Amino acid sequence: MSRQVENENVPAAEPRESSPKILAQEIIERLTYRIGKDPKVAKPHDWLTAAILVARDRITDNWMDSTRKTYESGRKRVYYLSLEFLIGRLMRDAITNLGIDEALREALGTFGVDIDVIAQLEPDAALGNGGLGRLAACFMESMATVDIPAYGYGIRYVHGLFRQQMSDGWQVELPETWLAHGNPWEFERRESSYEIGFGGSVETVNIDEEVTRYLWKPAERVIATACDTPVVGWRAKRTNTLRLWTAHPIDPILLDAFNAGDHIGALRESNKAESLARVLYPADATPAGQELRLRQEYFFSSASLQDILRRHLQQYPDFTSLPDKVSIQLNDTHPAVSVAELVRLLTDVHGLSFDQAWDIARHTFSYTNHTLLPEALETWPVPLFERLLPRHMQIVYAINAKIMIEARKEKRLGDEAIRTISLIDESGDRRVRMGNLAFVGSHSINGVSALHTELMKDTVFADLHRLYPQRINNKTNGITPRRWLMQCNPALFSLIREAIGDAFMDDAEELKALDAFADDREFQARFAAIKRDNKVKLAQLVQNRMGVRLNPSAMFDIQIKRIHEYKRQLLNIIEAVSLYDQIRSHPELDWVPRVKLFAGKAAPSYHNAKLIIKLANDVARVINNDPAVRGLLKVVFVPNYNVSLAEIMVPAADLSEQISTAGMEASGTGNMKFALNGALTIGTLDGANVEMRDQVGEENIKIFGMTAEEVSKARAEGHNPRAIIEGSRELSQALQAIASGVFSHDDRGRFSGLVDGLYSHDWFMVAADFDAYAKAQREVDALWTDEAVWYGKTIRNTARMGWFSSDRTIRQYSKEIWRAG
Ligand SMILES: *Cc1c(COP(=O)(O)O)cnc(C)c1O
Repeated sequence: MSRQVENENVPAAEPRESSPKILAQEIIERLTYRIGKDPKVAKPHDWLTAAILVARDRITDNWMDSTRKTYESGRKRVYYLSLEFLIGRLMRDAITNLGIDEALREALGTFGVDIDVIAQLEPDAALGNGGLGRLAACFMESMATVDIPAYGYGIRYVHGLFRQQMSDGWQVELPETWLAHGNPWEFERRESSYEIGFGGSVETVNIDEEVTRYLWKPAERVIATACDTPVVGWRAKRTNTLRLWTAHPIDPILLDAFNAGDHIGALRESNKAESLARVLYPADATPAGQELRLRQEYFFSSASLQDILRRHLQQYPDFTSLPDKVSIQLNDTHPAVSVAELVRLLTDVHGLSFDQAWDIARHTFSYTNHTLLPEALETWPVPLFERLLPRHMQIVYAINAKIMIEARKEKRLGDEAIRTISLIDESGDRRVRMGNLAFVGSHSINGVSALHTELMKDTVFADLHRLYPQRINNKTNGITPRRWLMQCNPALFSLIREAIGDAFMDDAEELKALDAFADDREFQARFAAIKRDNKVKLAQLVQNRMGVRLNPSAMFDIQIKRIHEYKRQLLNIIEAVSLYDQIRSHPELDWVPRVKLFAGKAAPSYHNAKLIIKLANDVARVINNDPAVRGLLKVVFVPNYNVSLAEIMVPAADLSEQISTAGMEASGTGNMKFALNGALTIGTLDGANVEMRDQVGEENIKIFGMTAEEVSKARAEGHNPRAIIEGSRELSQALQAIASGVFSHDDRGRFSGLVDGLYSHDWFMVAADFDAYAKAQREVDALWTDEAVWYGKTIRNTARMGWFSSDRTIRQYSKEIWRAG
């Protein structure tokens, strides 16, 4: 019946041996025959590629085995659709999960090659902006680890997130060229190609009295071709596929035009097609709103759905079984057009009725919401949507008609509620609401932390929630402990293993056995020594890249994440300015030496975020060069934040800054990484911080500031930031210094707009939370001065963070949303 069955006589591959000797032989073999290099002249990069190919062969055996078993068992497949996968480097992940890391180190060592050195050469695949994309990457690893047959679908951007450079303290964006040396992880699948249409018109064909068929005649067509990267789970439990689409023209060159002398015009189609997969939009938590973005969304949604339906028909006779055999998770609204695309494919291409198709779609999709900011919810102008996707526009209207009828039947919903439920926003120029489309087209809608889930029900989706009260549920985010403990902090990992044995390696919640060591002075000393080594490594990086010398005995206070006003790097910088004032005014006091480290990228079009980076750098220059500070405070903005930098900075943190305006951070995952690696958190009651407090205990986390409820009340009733500022001596002095140009002699008014915003509206409650934050910081100082207390708390953080493993999150998705057991 299908290909797999026809080839059943092909034997499964023999398991490969992975002794250092065999690995060494294979490395030489790959170097010679696949890379074509004489080992005598091979460059570090060649060794890296050879090592990856050796690992990849082992993963490939496992991969084929996993795929075959899924087919034979008839298990449900899960598809994770995401416009972003912030993967980072893959080699260390792959070899630790395969369990060949030590053997490979030894094998390379026999040729005088240091695996740690060549590992640094692997490009950092940054096909995402921040938390949403990193979550997708952690989920891919966890789905393989907990043995769920899963595929990630996305776009293989030629240029991922830009490389950030500093020029005189300003962010400069440079193109990222992660594919410059090729990508040994991926397999291009020319045979898995699909046509994707845009524009054109829809013809109506009346088959008979009852049945009308719609025929979309796109004006433009491009080809989507699959590129597969295997993702191996912990202990090689199974290997799943990350399938990223590349775009190609139908006709690579218009030969007629070329021969007629139009050499540039002949290539236009080709350039246009390829532009689809060229760059990742660099905005985080705000929709790009550009036509190319909608094209990208449809391109990858359509290719993925065609692929899913083809695979289903290869195994099953028709689509009635689709919801039993397929779950499609929409990572935010970026793939929401998939709802309309599935209905189109099932009706127009496969001949199902609209009602059948709609029923199947609703039982197949589920949707994860990542933000409540009303301005961040994607909408598209109806004229653009209609021009680019005329058939989908019809389907959206048809779905909307059904929903409106259901809503009208629900007596409790008034006209206003019905207007907010509609897929079309009629309040201004008409727009398609992608959040509503994803919501009505899914059987499950999840928030990403407990607080965020409750806020979803109360705010943006309140009326949809009243119409479909069973749909919203919570799945608190997680992080993979393989990358975010085992690999990034090998010394801490070994210490834990020595103390509590191996059980935590397969179940992160077993980390709680470490609690028994929290007050053990000898254990504390070893824990502290590891933290110090990690800080020395980070200090070396900062010294090499920026020429700033850091004292590893100082408290390393770290805030790394996208630069966004709601994340409030500004609050942290103002506090640094205030602390600077106080250190100079009160030299007689015992100040705790601190290093405040920042890293993060700003969207290129986000003016205030870029100004905040400049402010951090301006403040750093003044403080770091003022002898009156006596080295008690340093401020550093480390350029080009990405996964690889996080892997170095997270293990080196004493204090983790998670200080978003309450109600605005959906979950956060950076917060989890730090606490797992033994940092104390200073944070607001926002996102997953709330659940972190519940897990680690409120005495082991420093919570401050307004609650989400207080923030929304202050916004609704109006608050008076000017009075707040004038009531705080420290805050007004710090703001005056910033606004008057103390840190910007070359342009004294540079930051006056930023400061004016705090006086006039303070939307993000920076002024409102300042005093509470400063007070919390001094309490943190007091904890720091007692090492036994400090390490007691930080060890308990590591011990109690196991629940935030993404394995737990994925098990919940699997049990409660996908039913993919
Ligand atoms: C974890 C991570 C994030 C998310 O950080 P938050 O603090 O949760 O915003 C963003 N970028 C990178 C590179 C990460 O590793």
